[in-house]
Amino acid sequence: MSQSLLYHAFGVREGYEYRETLYEGGGVRFVLAVRPDWIKCPACGSQEINRKGRRFRELQTVPIGLKPVFLVTEVPKCQCAACGKRFEVSPPLPRRMSPTHAGSKRSSMTCAA
Ligand SMILES: [Zn+2]
Repeated sequence: MSQSLLYHAFGVREGYEYRETLYEGGGVRFVLAVRPDWIKCPACGSQEINRKGRRFRELQTVPIGLKPVFLVTEVPKCQCAACGKRFEVSPPLPRRMSPTHAGSKRSSMTCAA
């Protein structure tokens, strides 16, 4: 699995870097982390940031064969060391993805590729 495959197959663009692939429950999850250079204070622009934890977003994307594929993206929770503002960092994901709906097996995201 390469970064460029993520870019081209799933439309992931700048802002994320590939971390790992998880195979669970018959599906595939590509775990992405926010690139460090994308983490800066939205209030003052400082890049002196303290990490305060994280959460994850999970989005279903185009399947590989019959396997459902999800992109799991880290959303770092941060606090600016300069001005104290708290914020989360979540670079935009491709438009063709939609949030995962629990229990929904059919997906309009299926494409011919
Ligand atoms: Zn700041």
